[in-house]
Amino acid sequence: MLANEYIAIEEKYGANNYHPLDVVIEKGDGVWVHDVEGKKYLDCLAAYSAVNQGHCHPRIINVLKEQADKITLTSRAFRNSQLPFLYKELSELTGYEMFLPMNSGAEAVETAIKAARKWGYKVKGIPENKAEIITCTNNFGGRTITIISFSTEEQYKNGFGPLTPGFKIVEYGNAKALEEAITENTAAFIVEPIQGEGGVIVPRDGYLKETYEICSKNNVLFIADEIQSGLGRSGKLFAYQYEDITPDAVIIGKALSGGCYPVSAVLARKEVLGVFNPGDHGSTFGGNPLGAAVAREALKVLVEEKLIENSSELGNYFRSKLKDVNSNHVKEIRGKGLFIGVELNDEAGGARRFCEALMQKGILCKETHDNVIRFAPPLVIKKEEIDWAMERIGEVLNME
Ligand SMILES: *Cc1c(COP(=O)(O)O)cnc(C)c1O
Repeated sequence: MLANEYIAIEEKYGANNYHPLDVVIEKGDGVWVHDVEGKKYLDCLAAYSAVNQGHCHPRIINVLKEQADKITLTSRAFRNSQLPFLYKELSELTGYEMFLPMNSGAEAVETAIKAARKWGYKVKGIPENKAEIITCTNNFGGRTITIISFSTEEQYKNGFGPLTPGFKIVEYGNAKALEEAITENTAAFIVEPIQGEGGVIVPRDGYLKETYEICSKNNVLFIADEIQSGLGRSGKLFAYQYEDITPDAVIIGKALSGGCYPVSAVLARKEVLGVFNPGDHGSTFGGNPLGAAVAREALKVLVEEKLIENSSELGNYFRSKLKDVNSNHVKEIRGKGLFIGVELNDEAGGARRFCEALMQKGILCKETHDNVIRFAPPLVIKKEEIDWAMERIGEVLNME
């Protein structure tokens, strides 16, 4: 069957909430994916950093199959033999004390918001229903009604009101704006250490440390949304580690399962997640043994295969090669590790046409924010593969 036939069926029946590139992928292996017509592409999106370990990593797939043969779901009404070890291994890896597992990233962000509000009432002593949470311009935290309520992207909110109150938005990168927005009712500040969907925006050095200290001083929780920037993407386990801080809570998802299963979690100090009592919060699939087994292996792969180090080294290499291209379409090249954004000039005609041209040459990228091309390949990528990609990227960035 030809790609167009798949696309016609999808267009006929599917809700129209995405605008994908017209490549129909059938299988994948490491950094490579294959379409239904047998064409091979280098994946430079890695499912928005959910497949940091590479497509269908053999170790993770093996655990997925083995665990599927044993048991997949118990619900949290009963205990299972995988979840305790996911907690323990997460603690050893990250230093955090307490964990709450969910499935999608948005659910974990919702969980962090609930924890922060409850902490605000139970621990900080904020009067009932007065808790405020501060977020940043250009943020992305997922698509639930509460999360879009603090988005600054009009389209995300348009037609979905009434929205959830209790959020304040301050300029990303501006520590003073945070300080001024804090009141005695502020429970938390939620921030992406590097904004992914926002266009791979890296805040200036010192911003995270300053905002962290402002939060500490005012008894406000500092919550890092590392769903995209975390788990090696930025060249460190967590992007917040570029500055000497320890967030009160960290939200992870995406690569936590190596893209094999939806697994997310909130990591926090005991004082924060300790506010939950039985019945306060939950999820049928959250913490299930299949997801927990997959996540355990995905974390081991990340560490044992030195993917974080590879991200750091090859990220520097990739960016330096991009800088050598010297295209007049390019306004800025930025990022950390293999989390790279190429912002185009306004006259370039938008990033989409460049992504389509890259696809023709066998490289899959997706535009973000109209004029940014994000390069975020699986962290298993090799230097030769970057060289192969750069020959093609150079041609595309220099097209008319
Ligand atoms: C992707 C993402 C989310 C949402 O995750 P979903 O699994 O799509 O719900 C939240 N925060 C950040 C920073 C993300 O990149």
